[in-house]
Amino acid sequence: MEPESSATFRDRPINLDDSGKRKWIYAKQPKGKWYRRRTVVGWLAIAFLVLAPFIKINGNPLMLFDIANRKFSIFGQIIWAQDSYLLALIMAVTVVFIVLFTVVYGRLWCGWICPQTVFLEMVFRRIEYLFEGNYRNGPISKKVTSRIPLMKIAKHVVFLITAILITNVFLNWMVGPVRLMEIISSPISENRLGFTIMLCISLFYYWIYAFFREQVCTMICPYGRIQGTLIDSRTITVIYDYKRGEPRGPKSSGDCINCSQCAAVCPTGIDIKNGSQLECINCTACIDECNVVMERIRKPNNLIRFDSVQGVENGIRSVLNARTYAYSAVLIVLIIVLSVTVSNRKPIETSVLRVSGSLYQQVDPVTYSNLFLVKIINKTQSDKELKIRLISPMPGRLKLTTGQSTLKKQEILESVLIVELNREQMTGKSTPIRLGIFEGETLLEEYSTNFLGPDQ
Ligand code: SF4
Ligand code: SF4
Repeated sequence: MEPESSATFRDRPINLDDSGKRKWIYAKQPKGKWYRRRTVVGWLAIAFLVLAPFIKINGNPLMLFDIANRKFSIFGQIIWAQDSYLLALIMAVTVVFIVLFTVVYGRLWCGWICPQTVFLEMVFRRIEYLFEGNYRNGPISKKVTSRIPLMKIAKHVVFLITAILITNVFLNWMVGPVRLMEIISSPISENRLGFTIMLCISLFYYWIYAFFREQVCTMICPYGRIQGTLIDSRTITVIYDYKRGEPRGPKSSGDCINCSQCAAVCPTGIDIKNGSQLECINCTACIDECNVVMERIRKPNNLIRFDSVQGVENGIRSVLNARTYAYSAVLIVLIIVLSVTVSNRKPIETSVLRVSGSLYQQVDPVTYSNLFLVKIINKTQSDKELKIRLISPMPGRLKLTTGQSTLKKQEILESVLIVELNREQMTGKSTPIRLGIFEGETLLEEYSTNFLGPDQ
C-alpha cells in the first residue's frame, strides 16, 4: 500500500486502514552511512546490555537491579532501597537530562539507543530479512520474497529463541550472572515459578517483536507521547527540506522526485515529507535512502537531513536558547546536589525496631529486658568489625542474638538485640536510650529509641 497522502495522513494512526484494520509495516532495509553508524551504536548498546552485570567496578557489578534484596548497583555504586532520596535524585537527573537532550535533538534516543528499537531493528528485523528477504515498496507493502510457510515458521522459531535470550539478558540485570547460572542449570521442577515467569516474559517479548512491533513507539511509549511538548522549531530532528524539495515530482522544479523511497524504509510507516511527526524516531533511515536517490539523479545529498525547522527556513541552526539554558542550569544544580549527597553518604545505616508484640521481660527482681530487631547496612567497600554499645543510660547490657560482629562490605546484618537495664536506671514506663554503632573506638552512628518497663 502506498504511503498516505499529505491531505489524509493525520486522519488516523498511520498503521490503520479506513476500516480500522492494522496495516503491516514491512520496512525496506536502508543502506548508507547513517545506517552503518546506527549499526555500530546499536551493537554497542546490545553489548552494554549483555555485559553490564558481568563487568565489575570496585568489586560491584557495573549494573545490577537486585530488587529481591532491594540493592542496586549503578555504575559500580551500590544504592540501597534505604537510599531512596538518592534514587529520587538519580531519577530527577535522568529525567532533566532526557528533557534537555530531547529539546535539543528530538527523539534521537528512540532511534539509536532505546532497547526496543535496537532489538527490533538490529536483531529481529535482520532475522526477518534473512528468512524472507528485503522489501520492495514498503512501508506497508508487498514482500519481494516468496511466502514459503517453512521460511515463516523457521523465522518465528528463531524469533522465539531470540526472545528467550533477551529475557535472560534482562533477568541477568535483576539477579546477576551467578544466580542466573544457578537458575538455568537447576532442574525446572526445583524452580517452577521462576521458569513460568521467565517463559511468560519470553512469550511477551516474542509477541512484541514479532507482532506488536513499531506500535510500542507510536502508541504506547510515554516518552514518545511527550515529544510534542518538548520539540519546537529550533529542535534538531530528521527533517525534509521542503524549500529545496517542493514542488515535488519527476518533472517538477523541486529536488524531490516523489519516489516514496524515504517512506519505504521508515520503520514506523510515516512519510517524512508530511513534516515532523510524533511517530518519527529519528532513525535516519530516510536520510540514507534519499541520499541514494539524490546520487542517482545527480542532485546534492541531504534533501532529508538532521536540521531544525528554523534551519530549513532561514539557515539558523543554533540550539542555544532560553529553554536549553534553563534546563542546563537545572541539570547542573541537580548533578551538584547528587554529587554532594553521594560523597556525604553515611558509611553504615542502622534501623532499630521493637520486636512486634513485645513490651518488656523481667530477667530477675531488679533487671528488665527489651527485644529489638536491628538491621545494619555496611555501605562501604571494606569489611567492618562493628560493636553495638549502650551510650546512655549507663551501665546496661546489650546482646546480639547472632553474636555477629563482622559485617562484610555491602552486606546487611539482621539480628535480634536484647537490651537489659536495672530498675534504678529506668525513668518510668518509657526510658529514652541511645545506642551507638562503633568500629573500634570510633562512633559510626547513633540511634535513639525507648526502653519499656513496668510502672515505677
Ligand atoms: S526519497 Fe527523497 S526524492 Fe524520493 S520521495 Fe523521499 S524525499 Fe523525495
Ligand atoms: S521518518 Fe525517517 S527518521 Fe523518522 S522514523 Fe521514519 S525513517 Fe526514521
